[in-house]
Formats: sequence, structure tokens, C-alpha cells
Amino acid sequence: MEYNIEKINQIGKQLAEFIEEAVVQTEVESIRIGNVEMALREALQALGGSALKQYLENADGEQEAEIECACGGKLKYQRRRAATIWSVFGKVTYKRAYYAGCACQNGCAPVDCRYGIEPGKVTAGLAHLIALSGIKEAFDEGRKWLKEYLLFEVSENTIRSETQKMGELQRQADQALVKEMQDMKSLQQRERNQPAAPDILYGSIDAAKVRIEPRDPQEKAVEKRETWRDLKAGCWYEGEVVPVRQQSTRQKEKVQREGVALRAKNKKYFCDIAEAKKFGKLLWATGCAAGADRARLLVFICDGAVWIWNLIAQYFPNAIQIVDWYHAADRLKRIAEEAFPNLEERQTWLKQVTEDLWQGRVEAVIEACRPLAKKSKWAKQSLTYYRNNLERMRYDQFRASGLLIGSGIIESGCKQIVTQRLKLPGAQWNLDGAILTAKARTAWMSGEWQKLVSARSLLPLAT
Ligand SMILES: [Zn+2]
Repeated sequence: MEYNIEKINQIGKQLAEFIEEAVVQTEVESIRIGNVEMALREALQALGGSALKQYLENADGEQEAEIECACGGKLKYQRRRAATIWSVFGKVTYKRAYYAGCACQNGCAPVDCRYGIEPGKVTAGLAHLIALSGIKEAFDEGRKWLKEYLLFEVSENTIRSETQKMGELQRQADQALVKEMQDMKSLQQRERNQPAAPDILYGSIDAAKVRIEPRDPQEKAVEKRETWRDLKAGCWYEGEVVPVRQQSTRQKEKVQREGVALRAKNKKYFCDIAEAKKFGKLLWATGCAAGADRARLLVFICDGAVWIWNLIAQYFPNAIQIVDWYHAADRLKRIAEEAFPNLEERQTWLKQVTEDLWQGRVEAVIEACRPLAKKSKWAKQSLTYYRNNLERMRYDQFRASGLLIGSGIIESGCKQIVTQRLKLPGAQWNLDGAILTAKARTAWMSGEWQKLVSARSLLPLAT
């Protein structure tokens, strides 16, 4: 929106005088910038509320004796009736023309319909700010700091319901995408349009446990008891070389050691608490949207639970599969600690096998672990692990092709969704609540929040 700066300056001048008077009357002895700012914020908020009220009251135009009802019948003018909404400026009460008297019993305020207003509810503009706190903080914690930002109170329940509304919009978007990517016609349509695809696209999948513990007795009766469920999450992303000037100390060390430091960009996260079969459809659909079916190289980097490799083989059989380097190397550390009490021996062994693994000599790693299987449980288990993932650990080849070999992206993703939100103190989830909050949060993490904001502003859908 463009402002007429002269007009703004005029209003600003008036406001400055108004604040000057108000601040002078306060008891505060020495007035600091903070006091002036606060007084201005409060005044601007009141001003915004007043302006919104007047805007809506002016929006009515000429009233008519009769208007069409959505049902096809007629609605008669009643009177200008008051309605209250919660906006970013706080509570606003305004009067607008109200029509009723149709056989269908429904009434109508044309202004409300036109602007997507639900009387008694939160406006879309406020809803998205509230939901932002809900994806970041426990709802009760969000209530406290929203008050500092907004200068008025929002209840914990409102934060929960607005956050989950955003999650519901994301769930609907997910469902629509899954449907689209299962539909032959729309797939062919996409084929013809040839949307741009990345050269190398990466995918990573992981899971983390979430405790589902219904809050009230009614829910408890349905969901029975506390259960741990897997939140499955995935991420599509591309790699890019970190420019020298932006390299952190760790990345600089990496460049010295490995010749290059890569990082992920265009990260698109998705998640669900669902069976692998259902999650697979979401994997496929989000993958198509990210260009997985058209990229020159499709690369999966995972920590390697069997269900994950199975899904990848089912949906993207031609993809390159890589076991996350850090997990593979970390095993060697654990084996060394278990098998070698002598520090020097331990370090000598570890240095050699880590180098072997780094060079993709997985057979040598297996040979080095084999004699340790008797005294180290980790070594015994890892023999199978390295054997099963032989081709997924050709790190020399992957590095030579300039590929990323770490799945840190999805581990950080799971952490952001689960550890940093779903497991916060005070969080208690029923299944839907956990899913919706997680989905809303992934939209933010993927840079897709504005899509939800736009969708939210269309609610309630005009009938
Ligand atoms: Zn009607």
C-alpha cells in the first residue's frame, strides 16, 4: 500500500501534540523515550480500532429494503446492528446493516460477508499473529508474550484454536496435493507444462516420538490412554556452496578437510503422524511438487530405518540412497569405545576405520569390525548395518559427485517440530492437536506461511 506522506505527516503532527499532552499529565518524573513509545503504541492502537470501526460503518453504503438471500429467497432490512470483532487493534465494535426475515431463518450483514468477518471472532489479521505464537511457544507461554506484543490479552484456548486452524489449512493443502499427484489427468497436465526442476534434488526422512495424551475425559474415552506415536517428517532441498565470506568456523574447517562446504537451500518440510503407507503418498506428492520426478539427480540422505528405505524404493526407485555420514561414522566411535579400553589403541583403530569409511571402503570397515564382534555389542550389530548399507556408504563416490552426505537438515527439522515445540513444558496433545500444530509449524519452516495466511483470510468461506 502506498501512503500520501503529507497526509501522514498531518496526522502525525496531531498525534504528537496529543501524546505530548498525555505524557505531561503522567506521574512519571523523568520521561524517557520508552514512555513516549508506549504512549504512542497505545494511542495508535486506539486510533486503529477507531479507524477500523469507522471504515466498516462507512462500508455499508445505501441500505436497501430487500436483498437476495443465499437460499434464493428474500431478506428484509432490519436495522443497523452491532457486532464485535477482535482485530490487531484489540476489540472493535461497529454497527452495520442487518437483513433477516427469510423463510430459511438465516440473517445476513453484507459488510461481514464482503470482508470475511465472523462476528464475535478473531479477524484473519490477528489470527495469523496468534497462530505464529502458537507454533513457537506452548499456548500458555504464548499468551504471556502476545500480551506484550499486542497490548491486550488473548486466551490460551484462542491461541490453540487459531494455531490448529492454520494447521488444518495446511492439512487440506496436503490432501489436495496428494489427490492431485494421484490423478492421471493432472499428472499429464503437469508433464505438458514442464515446470522447472532442480538439477540435484535431495530428500531426507526421519521420525521422532510424540506423546499423545488426551486432555479431557471425553477425549480420553476415545483415545483411551497415553501413547507414543511416531511423527514422521521429511524435507526436500537443494545444495549450494557456502560463499567464503559467509563460512562459519566449522565450515572453514570443513573446506580445509573436504575441499568444499555445502549447505541446503529451498527447504520444504512435510510431516504427519500416520502409517508409513499414508506418509508415502505425502512423500510422493510433495516430491512431485519439489521436482523429484524431473530432477537430473535425486538423492536421499537418511539415517536409515527400514520403513524409510522401503518407501524410497517404492516411490523413487532410481534415486541415489545415502546413509547419513555422521550416523555411519558415529557408530565407529561407539564400537571403539566399547572394544578398546586402551585409549591409544582405540584412537589408532578409530582413525583408520573412519578414513576407510570416508573413502567408501566399507568392506574394510566390516573386516575391521568383525574381530570385535565378540567383545562389543555395537560391533556385532554394526556388521549387519554396514553390510546392509554397503552401496549407501560409497562416500568417496558421493563426494566426487559433489553431493551432500549428511542428513542434518531433517534431524534439525524433527528437532524444530518435536523437541522445540511438541515437547515443550506444558504441552499436552491429543492426536489431531499434535498433527495440526506440527503441520502449521512446517509451513513456517518451509517459508510457506503466507500461503496459509492467504487461505485463512478467505475464511469463513462465503456461502
Ligand atoms: Zn434464505
